[in-house]
Amino acid sequence: MGVEFENNVVVGKSVTLDELMQNEKFDAVFVATGAGLPRFLGVPGEHLNGVYSANEFLTRVNLMRAYQVTAYDEPVYDCRDRDVIVVGGGNTAMDAVRTARRLGARTATLVYRRSEAEMPARLEEVRHALQEGIDFRMLTNPVEFIGDQKGWLTGARCVRMELGEPDKSGRRSPVEIKGSDYVLPANVAIIGVGTTANPLIQSTTPDLKTTPRNYILADPETTRTSKRGVFAGGDIVTGGATVILAMGAGRKAAVHIHEYLTTGAWEPEPAVTV
Ligand SMILES: Cc1cc2nc3c(=O)[nH]c(=O)nc-3n(C[C@H](O)[C@H](O)[C@H](O)COP(=O)(O)OP(=O)(O)OC[C@H]3O[C@@H](n4cnc5c(N)ncnc54)[C@H](O)[C@@H]3O)c2cc1C
Repeated sequence: MGVEFENNVVVGKSVTLDELMQNEKFDAVFVATGAGLPRFLGVPGEHLNGVYSANEFLTRVNLMRAYQVTAYDEPVYDCRDRDVIVVGGGNTAMDAVRTARRLGARTATLVYRRSEAEMPARLEEVRHALQEGIDFRMLTNPVEFIGDQKGWLTGARCVRMELGEPDKSGRRSPVEIKGSDYVLPANVAIIGVGTTANPLIQSTTPDLKTTPRNYILADPETTRTSKRGVFAGGDIVTGGATVILAMGAGRKAAVHIHEYLTTGAWEPEPAVTV
């Protein structure tokens, strides 16, 4: 169809969105940069060798084929005969802990600060994880990662939690039980507590309106943003969602970009989602 691919371009670093439109004369831009910026716990020791985000772990193992150890030399911390903990209770955490198990981890432990009833992961994932021998440590929260003198992870200091009053999400909030801390042995710790908006385009495009959490504001029907000629859709607008919703946004964008390019109309001002 004549689509051109420009690889190795990070918009907001290699080139800004304004430069694309002003210098390179693109008439319209669709921003679909996703919500792939991993969240971390912000606890001491998170920089140690052996601690990484679930996104990095899964990308290295699956997309970059570290699971085919003999054919690919993609570096990934060796899980074989090691103690692996995964922090989080969603589908990504579940994916990471089951992957670690299949890579030969001696123990593969899921650490989650609420109880199983509050876990956002699909029930099917939970069932399969239990069948695969994943150890569930519910109502447990890491407060520090501990390492050896060379900076390699050796364990996670965890505290036990109990459930208090419901929070904004409607789920009962976890409250630390004082003095309950203990050390869980771990050579690899994978943080799967969610992701947030990829930030570069927003931080380098001053007239692009965003939500307080830095997602791009765009009309859900037309995908128009606050900036003329710029459309946005997928996770960068909705927050982490699904492939099918992102594809749907792409289709809506195609229709409305075509309309804009053929009529030049950018009215009325886009309604925005929050
Ligand atoms: C581990 C995991 C498992 C998942 N499993 C499922 C599942 O089973 N089913 C499902 O429907 N959904 C699943 N999802 C969610 C799904 O992946 C997303 O909802 C979907 O990929 C969003 O599509 P997108 O096009 O908006 O963003 P993405 O697919 O995240 O694509 C964004 C792209 O933009 C690139 N990018 C970012 N910033 C810039 C920049 N400044 N310049 C240039 N390029 C940039 C990124 O590198 C990336 O390639 C899963 C997500 C994760 C993390």
